[in-house]
Amino acid sequence: MGSKPHIEERSGKGLTPLSGSRRPTTGRGKAESVLVLGGGLAGLSASLRLLQHGMRVTLVEKRPFLGGRAFSFRDHETGEEVDNGQHVFTGCCTYYVDFLKAVGVLDRVYFQPRLRVEVVRNGRAGVLASTPWLGRFHLLPSFLRYPHVGLRDKLLALYGLTKAGLADRSKHGAALDAESCYDWLKRHHQTERTIDNLWELIVLPALNDSVRDTSADMALMIFQEGLLSKPEDAALGYPTVGLTPLNGEPSQRCIEKAGGELALGRSVRAIRVEDGGVTGVELSGGRAAKADAYVSALPFGALLDVLPPEVSGSPFFEPASRLTSSPIVDIHLWYDRPVMDSPLAAFLDSPVQFVFNKSLIQGSNGRGQYLCISLSGAWRYIDRPKDDLVEEFGAEMARLLPKAREAALERSLVVKETRATFRSAPGAGKCRLPQATPLPNLFLAGEWTDTGWPSTMEGAVRSGVFAADALASGSR
Ligand SMILES: Cc1cc2nc3c(=O)[nH]c(=O)nc-3n(C[C@H](O)[C@H](O)[C@H](O)COP(=O)(O)OP(=O)(O)OC[C@H]3O[C@@H](n4cnc5c(N)ncnc54)[C@H](O)[C@@H]3O)c2cc1C
Repeated sequence: MGSKPHIEERSGKGLTPLSGSRRPTTGRGKAESVLVLGGGLAGLSASLRLLQHGMRVTLVEKRPFLGGRAFSFRDHETGEEVDNGQHVFTGCCTYYVDFLKAVGVLDRVYFQPRLRVEVVRNGRAGVLASTPWLGRFHLLPSFLRYPHVGLRDKLLALYGLTKAGLADRSKHGAALDAESCYDWLKRHHQTERTIDNLWELIVLPALNDSVRDTSADMALMIFQEGLLSKPEDAALGYPTVGLTPLNGEPSQRCIEKAGGELALGRSVRAIRVEDGGVTGVELSGGRAAKADAYVSALPFGALLDVLPPEVSGSPFFEPASRLTSSPIVDIHLWYDRPVMDSPLAAFLDSPVQFVFNKSLIQGSNGRGQYLCISLSGAWRYIDRPKDDLVEEFGAEMARLLPKAREAALERSLVVKETRATFRSAPGAGKCRLPQATPLPNLFLAGEWTDTGWPSTMEGAVRSGVFAADALASGSR
């Protein structure tokens, strides 16, 4: 799979490795006890950061394992580690890279030396790739050769990309949040064909929704941060191990080593609020827990469910009730022989969106090949029977990949995630809440909080760091 030459240098202002013993107290100057609610990436990064601030941390998670929406399980038949959904990140995800470094697992991700994605349409493969020495124009040479957009449309697309790069999101954020990406593209003279063969190719997997259903602001954010900046920001990274050995398990070890406590398999049933502050939480099993401060890293729906109604319905929290989610379906297929050569490919003329060659990415397990089809914005598939999906997509793979016609499909698995990501729909931006709340000892993390990022591992890790820093600095 090659090397990962520049990933070591990537760094945000995120997490740093924790020493075994607790560090001196920072922030408000006294070691506080903090209950972190929810053990996804947001709760994990908040816990690690709070421990760095010298605080006493207890993390409560309802499931018996950590990692939240980014987890894996062992398939009993193949022995393979299977992710709940293929996760990919890009070079601009500096807080997530810092997180991986802090928990000591940077060697468990593969990082492309430069962006390279094969895009197939009607049997013809094109490539979108970075040229390293061209700075922010790194995509230009491959785009000029890209076969799936005609010359006139290419000129218009270059105009659109230039406008996307120049859009002032800080000045026009509210207007861009209210507008759909599709309307923005049409306003900037993009044709239907370019929208389908270029813009949708990027927006759908990145925002887990169609250009028609995403806000222009979030779409422009991914173009500006991911594609129209430095070449190294656009390179793709993906785990070479399952998501649980990547995220959940090493974080658990780090938190425990640094003196944090874990309460796994405990659900938060209610957050008690009295006299304008949180006074404790009620947990499953009739237990209760108290701390000086609280960080909720729960999904928005779960948080609103456990807050008292007068708090969840208050002007500060109410906007979160207007957030919604979009689904992802992953179809895992094990063939008796190799059917695909590249590590990943996108297909434009097919319901198959992206296919990941897990045998190549995670290391081969036997003579056959394990592929994962990742379906974003999977509204059409989420309620379909799993057997139907395997039949339809098995036939589609045989149409797309000549070698799959001869191969036998030995095993299949379908994983559906109904609430995979919060929806970056028009208007969603103003429903995301800041990390500090009007309750002085309650702070919010979770990828859905206001991080400026869409629903990603990067957004989740950022939210945890921001919430912990807000708590440590005493801001509200
Ligand atoms: C299939 C799929 C594919 C994805 N692909 C990508 C990708 O390619 N790249 C990318 O960057 N991101 C991707 N994402 C999104 C990414 O996984 C999420 O944005 C991120 O993991 C969210 O982390 P979080 O900590 O904010 O929330 P969560 O992971 O949802 O964490 C919340 C935690 O709270 C716990 N919890 C809930 N209620 C309670 C309660 N009452 N008491 C106690 N605990 C509770 C949950 O069990 C969970 O562990 C994908 C997500 C899915 C599902």
